[in-house]
Amino acid sequence: MKRTFIFLLFTCLMQEMNAQDYKSYPVYEGSDLGLVYTPAAAQFRIWSPLAADAQLLLYKYDEDKIPYQTIRLKKAEKGTWFVKVNKNLQGVYYAFRVLINNKWNDAVPDPYVKAVGANGKKGQVINIASTNPAGWTKDKSPAFSEQNNATDAVIYELHIRDASIHASSGVKKKGGFAGLAEAGTKTPGGTATALDHLQELGVTHIHLLPFFDYNSVDETKPNTPQYNWGYDPLNYNVPEGSYSSNPVDGATRIRELKQMIKAFHDKGLRVVMDAVYNHTGVTEASNFNQLVPGYYYRHKKDGSFSDATACGNETASEMPMMRKFMLESVLYWVKEYHIDGFRFDLMGVHDIETMNLISRELHKIKPDILLYGEGWTAGDSPLPEDQRAVKKNAFMLDRIAVFSDDIRDGIKGSVFDIKDRGFATGKAGMETSIRFGIAAACDHPQVDFQQVNYSKAPYAKAPWNVITYCECHDNNTLWDKISLSYPAASEADRKRMHRLALTIVLTSQGIPFLHAGTEFFRSKEGVENSYKSPDSINAIDWTQKEKNKSFNDYIKQLIALRKAHPAFRMNTTDQLKQQLHFEKSEPGTIIYTLDGSAVKDSWKKIWIGFNGTTEDAFVSLPKGEWKDALGKETEILKEFAKIERYGSVILYQQ
Ligand code: CA
Repeated sequence: MKRTFIFLLFTCLMQEMNAQDYKSYPVYEGSDLGLVYTPAAAQFRIWSPLAADAQLLLYKYDEDKIPYQTIRLKKAEKGTWFVKVNKNLQGVYYAFRVLINNKWNDAVPDPYVKAVGANGKKGQVINIASTNPAGWTKDKSPAFSEQNNATDAVIYELHIRDASIHASSGVKKKGGFAGLAEAGTKTPGGTATALDHLQELGVTHIHLLPFFDYNSVDETKPNTPQYNWGYDPLNYNVPEGSYSSNPVDGATRIRELKQMIKAFHDKGLRVVMDAVYNHTGVTEASNFNQLVPGYYYRHKKDGSFSDATACGNETASEMPMMRKFMLESVLYWVKEYHIDGFRFDLMGVHDIETMNLISRELHKIKPDILLYGEGWTAGDSPLPEDQRAVKKNAFMLDRIAVFSDDIRDGIKGSVFDIKDRGFATGKAGMETSIRFGIAAACDHPQVDFQQVNYSKAPYAKAPWNVITYCECHDNNTLWDKISLSYPAASEADRKRMHRLALTIVLTSQGIPFLHAGTEFFRSKEGVENSYKSPDSINAIDWTQKEKNKSFNDYIKQLIALRKAHPAFRMNTTDQLKQQLHFEKSEPGTIIYTLDGSAVKDSWKKIWIGFNGTTEDAFVSLPKGEWKDALGKETEILKEFAKIERYGSVILYQQ
């Protein structure tokens, strides 16, 4: 009893001391943390300022429990430990352990590890240049914008496994990197699937859910049904092994991911990586924590781990060595894997200074890189709110966009209330929230901010500051949300609502973002949080594309319209204020015009009408001859346009 008490007191004191001490830890500024390999020698450096001793453990095989050799690292500058092994270690597996408070911590790969064995338990020495597929050094990211304007992007969010695992995909190597690199795949009925579908749709960026090495799927059991979105990071600088054909071999997953990225680039598509630096999948046992207990995380006053992510911990981007890690990690993904953008999970957990540093350094090496993130946290954080990269601080972010939950829920209703509906599903009083979203959360003289559902002030500096969307992997799919919130509506009406929702997204200012399969009414059977649901819920059923061909074609047409007309993709708030005009209209409808000529659009004027009511609307048109932007389906009765119930109309004057 007494001993336990003294031990607890000691532990508390230690935690208290460490919490105060983290800032006094030496900062290593060199760029050689981890492994530097040549055939002649392998150099290893880890940062572990509290360690009294450190060992490099070498293993012949991935599954070995006992190292064939243990090598002592030497204490080196700024809290690092270093060893140079003058041998060709290619293929050897390795781990480190450090002695802290007279205890050897667990053997782990270092946080900077670039190649690992199955389940990421050990690092592997490889010659990374040998992982380059044919043509890799000439691989180029396809252009998507003449002037590096982020608003020229059309993002499509996709989970790697979902894209190919369904029987209808026609993909041979289903479920992983190799499958999504396959070209020419078709359904049995001859409809293009997977990679070919993405190209056909016309989107510019494919945002892939986590494909760094995550913790939840057992890579040694490829034939056991397993599924996860992957928001539980293990090794940040390594691709996920369950997406590779051989997780034991460190080089295979790297080569196969590069092949996939090259296949995307060859099809004119850019690749956005879903980055989850805000927390680690495990806490005490993480690589970070075994080498430098506590340092990389934020803590509560009592010394315990704080948890603004609702995942058990939150990292501390403001700490110099965490900031350095994040920066070097994203730079590595761009340089080694030719990544074209990052989506930062729970970006609000990170500090603004770190995010802006990352943006500046990334833009130096890739001027048209696309950066965006979730401008919120999932719980309270010790980081003061004015330092967080959250939505209300978006205007302080340098070339980084935030997701607009204002327009998301304005369109379809709150994601936290299954029964709630939005503008596109007939809820009254949502017009201003939609106008706010159409103007990309920028200042606009015709938006009454007090009437907006969430934000009572503009938060965007410019349209590039905002992701315009109504649906993502989180929460119900748009189709399921509509069905669950409005079960009384007929299927035909629900399809109209779905179409109206996506029409708003693809014609609004900001950067549009689509969730995979929404172009053919994807359903996850009402499963709201499908992060570990089976393939039967998550897989994309490509026969749905066949069944809903005309809707898929409509979305394709809208994307092409957006890409052809810069009026939908303005770059400054001044342009919006001057060239976007909302017209007076009946409740449940929104009418606005865009002055095309001022933004070098081939159309002089564009007129857009949305009707979120149960009745067709007849709206008077400004003078002049109007044509339908998408074909002949609109009835234009001299000076009136008919907008069908839950419908939209896009007209133009040449
Ligand atoms: Ca893994």
